[in-house]
Amino acid sequence: MKISTKISLIYYSELACSITIVESLNYLTVILRSLYNGFMKIMAIETSCDETSCAIVENGEKVLSNIIASQIDLHAKTGGVVPEVAAREHVLKIIPVLDECFSVASCGWEDIDALAVTRGPGLVSSLIIGTETANVISYVKNLPLIPVQHIVGHIYSNWLDIEDDVQFPILVLTVSGGHNELILMRGHHNFEILGETRDDAAGEAFDKVARLLGLGYPGGPIISKVALTGDKGRFKLPIAKTGRESLEFSFSGLKTAVLNETKKAKVVDEKFKADLAASFQEAVVEALSQKLIMAVKKFPNVKEVHIAGGVSANKRLREVVAKNLPENFKFRYPKLIPYCTDNAAMIASAAYFAYKKNSESFSPPVNIVPTTSFEIF
Ligand code: ADP
Ligand code: MG
Repeated sequence: MKISTKISLIYYSELACSITIVESLNYLTVILRSLYNGFMKIMAIETSCDETSCAIVENGEKVLSNIIASQIDLHAKTGGVVPEVAAREHVLKIIPVLDECFSVASCGWEDIDALAVTRGPGLVSSLIIGTETANVISYVKNLPLIPVQHIVGHIYSNWLDIEDDVQFPILVLTVSGGHNELILMRGHHNFEILGETRDDAAGEAFDKVARLLGLGYPGGPIISKVALTGDKGRFKLPIAKTGRESLEFSFSGLKTAVLNETKKAKVVDEKFKADLAASFQEAVVEALSQKLIMAVKKFPNVKEVHIAGGVSANKRLREVVAKNLPENFKFRYPKLIPYCTDNAAMIASAAYFAYKKNSESFSPPVNIVPTTSFEIF
């Protein structure tokens, strides 16, 4: 072997050895810190769509702060999210939101044991603001960084601020603006997708119908408010039949039926809108709850039934599921309304349970790259 090759080999093996030592020391520091405290504080960042959010959560459940800068007013002008506008707003908001997050939690960087960030799915131009911020902080502060799949984050919103223990297996209905799934969860970060939507997600249907009726954005909260004064029996709207055994959803037919009712109407006044909103909401809730109850019957060993995502804020959905669910199942929905829609606390919770399962994979240096794929990683 040439002398120069030998020197290079010695150099690289020493370098590899010192990197390994530094990595082990980093890892040890984190473990010692959490052992010393007895608690693990995770700071999470969520920027998948139009909310800039940072949170600090202890042991995956105790929310110390959950700051959400919503862009609703900005996007209400266009009736939906314009990706470039959302990204620019994230750039402006991310640091002030981070600062506020520390101030509300009354802690500093020295108290943080790990970072978490939403990796996807979402708008890439929005996600990248969060992932790049997290990558830089992880590098500078030498902190582990845990990437979280957004819908997995929504699922973990049911762990926030709870006082009892969640019992597996769990049947989860995720209902957000972009996603709609029925998932069987046998343990932490163990997911089996039983069914999903063939077209629109439930939240998307709320948003499109609200737009059609000229009610504003986002549609869910407005439709449920308007529906309070409406007659839910006035319009006979369809509930998609996706097959007797199927746990899939479909909302495009319902949306078309709403459009047809508005075309047929001679007068589109407040009463008409309220009745149509109430009838539409009832059809969505009925479709969701029917499939959920079907899944419960298919998996009778399930101990808990959860709903998560923006539409889980819907009062009527909560009422109907609670009424139809057999008594032996524990029914959970997020403790607070801000935990239903996009927020960073749920990301911190999902990250905590992922870290507990497999802490080695998250040690710095890491480089999280955003993804639009739904795939659970
Ligand atoms: P995404 O993760 O896809 O961005 P979110 O989980 O943040 O979506 O949820 C936003 C969706 O939830 C929107 O489509 C909104 O209309 C819907 N939503 C919010 N509150 C309610 C409600 N009270 N009833 C029905 N839908 C709601
Ligand atoms: Mg969401």
